[in-house]
Amino acid sequence: MPNPIPFDNTYARLPERFYSKQEAAHVPAPQLLRANTALAVELGIDPAWLETPEALNVFSGNGTAAGSEPLAQAYAGHQFGGFSPQLGDGRALLLGEVVDQSGTRRDIQLKGSGRTPFSRGGDGKSALGPVLREYIVSEAMHALGVPTTRALAAVTTGETVLRQEGHLAGGIFTRVASSHIRVGTFQYFYARNDEDALRELADYTIARHYPEASGAEDPYLALLECVIAAQAKLIPQWMALGFIHGVMNTDNTAVSGETIDFGPCAFMDDFHPNCVFSSIDRDGRYAWGSQPGMASWNLNRFAETLLPLISGDSEAALEKAKQTLSTLHRLFRTEYDRRFRAKFGLAGNAPLDLVKSGLSLLTKQAVDFTLFFRHLTYGNRSELSALFTDPALLDSWYADWEAATQSAPDTAAMQQSNPVLIPRNHRIEQAIQAAYRQDYAPFHHLADALAKPYEERTAYAAYEQAPKPDEIVHQTFCGT
Ligand code: AMP
Ligand code: MG
Repeated sequence: MPNPIPFDNTYARLPERFYSKQEAAHVPAPQLLRANTALAVELGIDPAWLETPEALNVFSGNGTAAGSEPLAQAYAGHQFGGFSPQLGDGRALLLGEVVDQSGTRRDIQLKGSGRTPFSRGGDGKSALGPVLREYIVSEAMHALGVPTTRALAAVTTGETVLRQEGHLAGGIFTRVASSHIRVGTFQYFYARNDEDALRELADYTIARHYPEASGAEDPYLALLECVIAAQAKLIPQWMALGFIHGVMNTDNTAVSGETIDFGPCAFMDDFHPNCVFSSIDRDGRYAWGSQPGMASWNLNRFAETLLPLISGDSEAALEKAKQTLSTLHRLFRTEYDRRFRAKFGLAGNAPLDLVKSGLSLLTKQAVDFTLFFRHLTYGNRSELSALFTDPALLDSWYADWEAATQSAPDTAAMQQSNPVLIPRNHRIEQAIQAAYRQDYAPFHHLADALAKPYEERTAYAAYEQAPKPDEIVHQTFCGT
């Protein structure tokens, strides 16, 4: 029988100080909750295999698939501005890589698979809640068109883990990413003055993600440029969907430009630029409107790690890096404006006054972000009014909007930019709570609904609604 997962590993060929080889812990009674057949096909995995006991062994860490070389990756990172020189995969294992049907190399990783040398005080495990949250949100992000890591499988383990809330059912998540190389991976070697490793990591990253940089006059500066461009595209996409990542630490910033690590993340209900959900983000460092500044801060940390590679002359290296970093603001702004013009159905060169006044109106009236754009898009004038406590304020803005669009907004652009469904926090929470009672139907139904977020489908219309006052989730938590 051919290999069920056609592993073709390259990270395991990098020097040993890049990782620690590690087997997953055994779990007592694993059960498959959900597997992603469409993604399996992309990866060259037979979807029929996903349902086999052998697959369950792989997704629970109870068995090692042929060709898999499990390892915990080393990385460092700035967390909320403070530097930790050693983080690393404390509860995750890279099983290996496959080259997918389109020729792209993808990582397959287990999350919640037990202790590793990077676990510090942690148990290396995951509760079921964070597994389901990451499954739902990452697949929703993908369906919404945002670069993101993906969900291949979710299993329950048959054991409990101890968290603040008490003993919770354990789970393991199988994640697929175009790589798990983070800004923090570069920082790990930079902090150790390990220039050889930095060069090797940078060359590996260029070959894997940005081969176009290898032909540049200065490949490492070109790498910086590519990573900046990817973040400048990604963050406006989050913002245009009302998404708040919640922990934009450098270890949670993938150099590929994919969204990674869905911990205390959330899609906003009522719009406010200072909106924060994360229970650990007390100062609002990673609020919705602060995300561009934080991405910039993270990219500055990334640039720092490349300085020794850019030039032996540290002054010259700094000057070049600064120049490259100075392009971020314009790149970001262009993309942000483009996305918000499209949300409002405005022409590509329209002035931005209506975007600004529109967002400030939503802020003042605490209007649901997704419902506002949804009703604006589909011409539901009375539903739109009903979102406002003072509808007269909407009327006056609406008249300006009609004038600006000459009553013919670009509805095609609006429909592509304004989803009908987002993974609302309260729905995710309800699915998680049901799953802890071993009722997995709400999780499956929600995941099914979010597969087509831009379509109006009556079967899933209930997911459009904003939370009732007693359903509002005020805080989300880390996956630990
Ligand atoms: P995160 O906050 O999820 O980005 O994780 C930050 C660091 O903590 C990473 O090095 C994780 O591997 C580690 N970590 C998080 N949860 C656990 C856990 N339950 N056991 C061991 N390490 C963990
Ligand atoms: Mg992380």
